[in-house]
Amino acid sequence: MGLDERAQAQFDTFNAVYFNGELPDVDVRFVHDLRLDGPRRCRLLGATSKVGGQFFIELRRDHMWRLTLMHEAVHVRLWPRSHKSKQWKQEVQRLAVAGFLLEVF
Ligand SMILES: [Zn+2]
Repeated sequence: MGLDERAQAQFDTFNAVYFNGELPDVDVRFVHDLRLDGPRRCRLLGATSKVGGQFFIELRRDHMWRLTLMHEAVHVRLWPRSHKSKQWKQEVQRLAVAGFLLEVF
């Protein structure tokens, strides 16, 4: 299984385990340089975009990519809300209680 396939499979697992399978289909891929700049580029070396109803997640090749992928999954869930929204804080707290960090620490 290639890296992109691993990331795609990990997203599907996160969706099933932590989002009740309710996230839409997302195209996940590793990139050398993130396409997005400015406020939509995340501090965790990833980026989420939505083009014509299709979500895309780009990840840098980094040993913490699973953590970044979950961060981007929250963007998909709360799209287009920002990191500073009340819903963002609530969602991060929900994932922490659900034990997500046990997967990446
Ligand atoms: Zn972000």
